[in-house]
Amino acid sequence: MSDTYPPSSDFVSGAHVDAARYDEMYARSLSDPDGFWADQAQRLDWMARPTKIKNTCFEFGKVDIKWYEDGVLNVAYNCIDRHLKTRANQTAIIFEPDNPEDPAQHITYAELYDKVNRMANVLLSQGVMRGDRVVIYLPMIPEAAYAMLACARIGAIHSIVFAGFSPDALANRINDCGAKIVITADTAPRGGRKTALKSNTDAALLHCSDKVRCLVVKHTGDQTSWIQGRDVDLNYLMEHAAPDCPPRPMNAEDPLFILYTSGSTGKPKGVVHSSGGYLVYAAMTMEISFDYHEGDVYWCTADVGWVTGHSYIVYGPLANGATTLMFEGVPTYPDASRFWQVCEKHKVNQFYTAPTAIRALMGQGDDFVTGCDLSSLKVLGTVGEPINPEAWNWYNDKVGQGRCPIVDTWWQTETGGHLMTPLPGAHATKPGAAMKPFFGVKPVVLEPTSGEIIEDRPTEGVLAIADSWPGQMRTVWGDHERFEQTYFQQYKGYYFSGDGCRVDADGDYWITGRVDDVINVSGHRMGTAEVESALVAHAKVAEAAVVGYPHPVKGQGIYCYITLMNEVEPSEELKKELRTWVRTEIGPIASPDLIQWAPGLPKTRSGKIMRRILRKIAENDFGALGDTSTLADPSVVDDLIENRANKG
Ligand code: ATP
Ligand code: MG
Repeated sequence: MSDTYPPSSDFVSGAHVDAARYDEMYARSLSDPDGFWADQAQRLDWMARPTKIKNTCFEFGKVDIKWYEDGVLNVAYNCIDRHLKTRANQTAIIFEPDNPEDPAQHITYAELYDKVNRMANVLLSQGVMRGDRVVIYLPMIPEAAYAMLACARIGAIHSIVFAGFSPDALANRINDCGAKIVITADTAPRGGRKTALKSNTDAALLHCSDKVRCLVVKHTGDQTSWIQGRDVDLNYLMEHAAPDCPPRPMNAEDPLFILYTSGSTGKPKGVVHSSGGYLVYAAMTMEISFDYHEGDVYWCTADVGWVTGHSYIVYGPLANGATTLMFEGVPTYPDASRFWQVCEKHKVNQFYTAPTAIRALMGQGDDFVTGCDLSSLKVLGTVGEPINPEAWNWYNDKVGQGRCPIVDTWWQTETGGHLMTPLPGAHATKPGAAMKPFFGVKPVVLEPTSGEIIEDRPTEGVLAIADSWPGQMRTVWGDHERFEQTYFQQYKGYYFSGDGCRVDADGDYWITGRVDDVINVSGHRMGTAEVESALVAHAKVAEAAVVGYPHPVKGQGIYCYITLMNEVEPSEELKKELRTWVRTEIGPIASPDLIQWAPGLPKTRSGKIMRRILRKIAENDFGALGDTSTLADPSVVDDLIENRANKG
């Protein structure tokens, strides 16, 4: 039985949703989806209110998902204009720059309106029309939000490429979506170092149509090259643009953006999201999952280059009229107290980050946290991967001081918003559990081979979703067949998440990691995350990644890549010690067969370990590493190949 952490009665009484309300709303969301989601649509201002709510077909070959199909709205209007009457002078965006010595900016809703309208007019003047694609290759600066909203205002489709990506990755995305424009900045400081975004863009554009224009934000003022006729000074044009640009009426099903998945499991997919359904879902999950209240200061530390940044830095918060914080820097610069300094400085109420950041900060010791005043915090969130209980407990004790419910939100680029999470005022949380489905979400646990639904509790299997929710992706850009094949072919009639999950005796959900990461050792199926979690609980281990490899006797053997803590020396003794450790923590069946010391692990730019590459190395199959363009540091891979553990 795991520990449970119920919210305090004070918290419950102030929360939007308590346990009884959750049960009642959840039941209605399933029994009367049309009524439920028609009500939720009232969160938005529509130019024509939708009368048709849900219209979906999941028959393979004809997958078609529509929500609010006759509704007409403008997303930027909903995120800006409609708030002006009551909160023109309220801060919409707090910008906290990389360097803590530089002043923070507070951008009001009135200023946001001005900037977005001017940028929208610039886009129009550059010939951008409804349905055209605009690639945004910007760091975490307010202009990134302006650019998103400017696109939304005129009905252009944006596709953000994370500013840490290489010229190649940028070029691939510009070409895949056929963008007319790329918006970038001169250079981008991050953690005290600068990325030359404009010169990366120059390099990328060598591989793109010469019709693509480049709009450049002057951010640091650093010198850049300039190609007359192609490059455009965005700041200059904005200053001279008209300050009003009417919001274009868009159909609810018109695409709002394309976002490429992080590529942990294969070639990135251009996930397409809608305008109406997406915004309803982003707005609702933002308010309910974080128990956001009027006047709160909300901070999601993700990058706008990830879906988390789309839904929970920009669209969700602004649709709710919130104050959202954009942070340009990294958690460890100038030192490991930065996150907590920023929370203290801006009196952050809701704080949302990733397990990888929590683990990194936890490794630096408690002093960085305990020295800061975190009394403003009310709710904490995590997203991105399963959080190991050790990190959860640290987050709960040291950051939340036992006072703040932790919402472990499970979702994907494809889902637009949270699909599972405890609600802070409704559920007693469990360290590492995503707990409960969000409203309208019908999770099913499938037996991996037969695809049959497993109703028994407790159980474990493949996580799929029956039916639809408004934030669901609509297609893969330019490849509807890939959309159907990736998500609807394996288990007919269901959306296949690619993740595995466990349901405990209470009916609560635990994400066990990607299904590909389940290994079968002598007939025992286990999630590699479990072995990793045991390994990182050892004091000498900083990080671990576990994959299966073909084993003549066991079917699959357990191959562990381990990064040791700073001062620890690798040795054969230590390998023995770790094997014994895992045997006692989990059992003999989980005992590592091969251990490789890994000074670094191959990670995506979003900080996720790319296990598919580690699997290939473990299988001795170096020729087929697949798409490595989204790796943060490709040299890590060469090192791992060179020092591959001997199968012996
Ligand atoms: P690709 O689909 O290209 O391989 P990706 O799946 O890493 O990339 P994202 O959409 O950013 O791209 O990540 C979604 C995945 O992250 C989920 O499928 C799941 O594996 C993991 N994940 C997200 N949140 C959680 C969570 N709270 N608990 C466990 N896993 C999570
Ligand atoms: Mg994925």
